[in-house]
Amino acid sequence: MAQGDFNRKVQQFMNGRRGPDDLANLCVWVAVILVVIDIFVHTGWLSWISMALVVYAAWRMCSKNVYARMNENDAFLKALGPVRPWLQNPNHAAHELRTYKHAKCPSCGQKVRVPRGKGKLRVTCPKCHEKFEVKS
Ligand SMILES: [Zn+2]
Repeated sequence: MAQGDFNRKVQQFMNGRRGPDDLANLCVWVAVILVVIDIFVHTGWLSWISMALVVYAAWRMCSKNVYARMNENDAFLKALGPVRPWLQNPNHAAHELRTYKHAKCPSCGQKVRVPRGKGKLRVTCPKCHEKFEVKS
């Protein structure tokens, strides 16, 4: 079987399926970490948990109920809260932290991002147009 033939068959199989997402990726990474821990600790049951995580991740990727998997992934990302950017792209999250300061609008609570090190800035809220000062 030629390489192109194999790729086409994989594409046909994955057509209409979810593919890898954040939740599946995390399951695979946690499984890898558990396997590495099990190499040193020899519990046995850790490798079973990691196997279950890999099976769950594979099931998620191959599921044809794309809408349900998307909702689960969205709920997972929402549950992560402020940790989310650090898990998805740590370099970008570190750059954001160094370059920008985040402030909340005192009127509506909308988060605004201002450049760091520019002194006191007068900010107009993009949501409610309230003007307030932020020390950057
Ligand atoms: Zn506002």
